Amino acid sequence: MPNPSLLILAGDGIGPEVMAEVKRIIDWFGDKRDLTFDVSEDLVGGCAYDAHGVPLADATMAKAQEVDAVLLGAVGGPQYDNLDFSLKPERGLLRLRKEMDLFANLRPAQCFDALADFSSLKKDVVAGLDIMIVRELTSGVYFGEPRGIHTEDNMRVGINTQRYTEAEIERVARAAFDLARKRSNKVCSMEKANVMESGILWRDVVIEVHQADYADVELSHMYADNGAMQLVRAPKQFDVILTDNLFGDILSDCAAMLTGSLGMLPSASLGLPMANGRPKAMYEPVHGSAPDIAGQGKANPIACILSFAMALRYSFDEGAEADRLEAAIEKVLADGARTGDLMGPDGGTPLSTTQMGDVIIAALNASL
Ligand code: NAD
Repeated sequence: MPNPSLLILAGDGIGPEVMAEVKRIIDWFGDKRDLTFDVSEDLVGGCAYDAHGVPLADATMAKAQEVDAVLLGAVGGPQYDNLDFSLKPERGLLRLRKEMDLFANLRPAQCFDALADFSSLKKDVVAGLDIMIVRELTSGVYFGEPRGIHTEDNMRVGINTQRYTEAEIERVARAAFDLARKRSNKVCSMEKANVMESGILWRDVVIEVHQADYADVELSHMYADNGAMQLVRAPKQFDVILTDNLFGDILSDCAAMLTGSLGMLPSASLGLPMANGRPKAMYEPVHGSAPDIAGQGKANPIACILSFAMALRYSFDEGAEADRLEAAIEKVLADGARTGDLMGPDGGTPLSTTQMGDVIIAALNASL
């Protein structure tokens, strides 16, 4: 069997800084766990624009289509703010998602006990929280036609269209049910079937898929507005939340903040299985390029490292090694390791990005 292949696109700002720590961890798994990846690297975002005049070169896109998984850092920066819309760094990211057809966006919200005080909610509401939001990523109101701004009766009218086909709902529902089976076997589907026809179809199709192939998974339904309330009232009632692009955008940001810092949040975007059975996949931290701290060694690498843990679990079926990596992170946090974003005003001296990588690798060594 050839080694699994990874394409690293570190990107801009703190992207290369946090990715440097991921690369050390990839090397660790090669050295210590006999889990060797064929790693290649390329450019995306502003750095790709600087080199090639576009935020993602065609050759890079072609490589992304061939590898088993893409690991992305972050893109963007103030120096690119005035570029034409089509050349902005974020367009590179969107092109990857669109051309790889990454329709299922997985956003975990997991509260490490050591950081429960960081949440804006009471500690007992969030301690031990472990939920996963599965957001449909390539359809819905952000893509539906007609769209635009036009004038009617001397007044401007803005239009966007919420549109879902049965097939689009079915494939993301299957992704959520499959995932639930690897977790606590519960899916809560959120839409607004009370006021939207697309919501009625969403609920119908989810029920059909469930009855046909996933009757063993516990399924419930909730209107998305109630879902938002429940997420801040009693988030631990959920395991997997399945929802559309628009509601998922909002609910996943809401859930993210339950856990404290942006520097802790990973994500995965998955598509259909490739010939080798692995899904098309891209893994990336939720945060951006953080220009305010870029180049200073202050960035928290944990979101990017947890994204690699998701790759181990969802692309490479290495759940036990993903558990090992997550446990190492939990251990260093419990021991008090903190980058600046995880410290209160009277917190003392924070660890640098590299020092956080050092202690995580030490915890991995201790796990052997
Ligand atoms: P951001 O996520 O880059 O930063 C928001 C705040 O969180 C900043 O104060 C930053 O210092 C802090 N932060 C973020 N990640 C951190 C980490 N790992 N460790 C410590 N602190 C961290 O969002 P922004 O400031 O709105 O955007 C900055 C740039 O990033 C913009 O160009 C934006 O378009 C781009 N962006 C890219 C992505 C992506 O690549 N997926 C996502 C969001 C924003």
